[in-house]
Amino acid sequence: MATNRGVVYIGPGKVEVQGIDYPKIVAPNAKEVDHGVILRIVSTNICGSDQHMVRGRTTAPSGLVLGHEITGEVIEKGPDDPGGIDAGLEVQPSAYAGDTP
Ligand SMILES: [Zn+2]
Repeated sequence: MATNRGVVYIGPGKVEVQGIDYPKIVAPNAKEVDHGVILRIVSTNICGSDQHMVRGRTTAPSGLVLGHEITGEVIEKGPDDPGGIDAGLEVQPSAYAGDTP
């Protein structure tokens, strides 16, 4: 059975790899939305922002799942997809895509 895990901030100087809930396509306020995707993480890294949180230099709530610079494969998408996003597409959400018209 597949598991979902993340690096969880416990407190200054302490993180743990923990099992976390499978994500849902909802807004941060838990309101349902029709657009968005869920990714299977292909690769990730530790960012300077994460290091500042772990070392207690910035505020972070205990239980925060760290990591925001990822490359992933689309495995689920919302019903309001404008097209062009298919299962299996690999994306890098944090990559700069250049200026848009
Ligand atoms: Zn970062």
